[in-house]
Amino acid sequence: MALIVQKFGGTSVGDLERIRSVAGQIARNFDAGNDMVVILSAMSGETDKLLDMAAKITEFPDKRETDVLVSTGEQVSVALMAITLQSMGYKARSMLGHQAEILTDSQFNKARILDIKASRIKQLLAEKHIVIVAGFQGADASGDVTTLGRGGSDTSAVAVAAALKADKCEIFTDVDGIYTADPNICSTARKLDRISYDEMLEMASLGAKVLQIRSVEFAKKYDVPIHVRSSFSEEEGTMVVYEDANMEKVVVSGVTHNKNEARITLSKVPDKPGIAMQILEPIAEAGIGVDMIIQNTRAGNLTDLTFTVPKSDFDAALAIEKKIAEKIGAEDVIGDQKIAKVSVVGVGMRSHSGVASRMFSSLAAENINILMISTSEIRISCVIEEKYTELAVRTLHSAFGLDKPA
Ligand code: ASP
Ligand code: MG
Repeated sequence: MALIVQKFGGTSVGDLERIRSVAGQIARNFDAGNDMVVILSAMSGETDKLLDMAAKITEFPDKRETDVLVSTGEQVSVALMAITLQSMGYKARSMLGHQAEILTDSQFNKARILDIKASRIKQLLAEKHIVIVAGFQGADASGDVTTLGRGGSDTSAVAVAAALKADKCEIFTDVDGIYTADPNICSTARKLDRISYDEMLEMASLGAKVLQIRSVEFAKKYDVPIHVRSSFSEEEGTMVVYEDANMEKVVVSGVTHNKNEARITLSKVPDKPGIAMQILEPIAEAGIGVDMIIQNTRAGNLTDLTFTVPKSDFDAALAIEKKIAEKIGAEDVIGDQKIAKVSVVGVGMRSHSGVASRMFSSLAAENINILMISTSEIRISCVIEEKYTELAVRTLHSAFGLDKPA
C-alpha cells in the first residue's frame, strides 16, 4: 500500500498497443492496493511534429501560442490512457496541468514550477481513481498555458511526487537505467544501482539524456528519490538519491561524452583589462551559452582566448567573433567543430586525490591530445579531437576500474 507516481515517456505511449500495455501495468499496481498517479509525455514524435508545423508558418512563432499548441500532445496521450483504463473497468481521470493546479512562472517554453496544490488529485485519489496527469505543462498566475522545456514531463513527475509526498517516483523510459558510460560505445559499461543527485546533475548536463536536468534539481531540493527504469522490462533500474558515505568510496562513478560542442579561438589578442568581456559579452547577449573558456598568454602582451559553444550556435558565434576580432585587433579567429568532451564524474573525488593525473596519463598512453580542461568538485572534463571519443571513453572506463567483470 503506497502512493506511487509513475511517469512514462513518449515511446512508452507511442501507439495504442503500447498504451494498453502500460495501462495493464498501472492496473496491476492499483490492484495491489496502491494509489496511482501517472504522468505522461506526448506520444513519441508528436511534440516535434507540432513544433515543425509552427515553424512552417513563421521562423519565430509567438511563445505563448507555441505552448498552447505543443501542450496538446500530452492532452492526447492522457485522454487515451484514461479511456483505455476505463475500458478495462477502472475508474480513471485525466488532468491537464492547470487542472492539477501546477502553477508556473510566465516564461513560455521554459516555465518553472512555482507550486502544486494538487487538491483535485488528492480528492480523486480518495475516491479511488487512477489519476493521469499531462506532463510538460502548467499554467501561470493568469491561467495561461505554459510548458516546461523539452523533456519537461520528468520534472512534472518529480514535482507531483513532491507535492503529494509520494512513496515512490518511478520514471519509465526506453533505457533500463543510468550506466557507467554509454553502452553503445562502451561494451563494458555497467548499470548503476544508485547514483547521487549531484552526479546525475553532472552526467545529465554532460549528455546522458535520460532525465531532464531540472527534474533532478527538483528531486534534490525536495528529497524525492527517483527510480529510473525501463518500461519494457520488470528489472530494477537506477535509484537517483542523496549521496551517502558508501558512494564516496568509489572514486569515479561514470564516464560521459558530448559531441555537441564546438570551439572558437581568437589568437593574438592585445592583452588588456576588459578584453574577455569584449569577446564574450556579445555571445551572451545573443543567448548563446559558453561552456569552457581558456586564456593563454603569449610574449609581447598578446593573448589567445578559446571558448566552447553548442554546435547549433557555432555559425552565429563565429560570425560575431569575426567582427569583434577586427574591432579589438586580434590576428585571427579559428573555429573547430571536430571536438568532443569526455568527463569522469564521481562524488568520491571530494575525498580522493590523483584523479586528474590518472585521467591525463591514461589519455596520454593512447596518444590522445588534450585540447582543453575544466573541473568541478566532482568532475574533470577534457576536450579532445572528436575522432578519439570512443577510444577515450573506453580507456577511461577501464582506467577507473568501471569495466564489468568478464
Ligand atoms: N513531450 C515533451 C517533449 O517531447 C515533454 C516530454 O516528453 O517530457 O519534450
Ligand atoms: Mg525524456
